[in-house]
Amino acid sequence: MGHALALERPAPDAGAQVWDDYVHNRENPAGETRDLWYHGLGCGAWLVVHRNTVTHEIYGAALARDVKGAGQ
Ligand SMILES: [Zn+2]
Repeated sequence: MGHALALERPAPDAGAQVWDDYVHNRENPAGETRDLWYHGLGCGAWLVVHRNTVTHEIYGAALARDVKGAGQ
């Protein structure tokens, strides 16, 4: 898991290429990953979900506020 869960927002004048990457481009790993999920239609919590994108196995989930490095 070499990538940060939360992206760092570019400066307003960072340029179109930087903003395009920030808005649209994500890593799409095959296998084990940790993602931020938002329970928008429920309690509004942010979760860190530890899962496998190939097997769809869920290893676990935790509230993002309790996970070091999950937020800003
Ligand atoms: Zn919830």
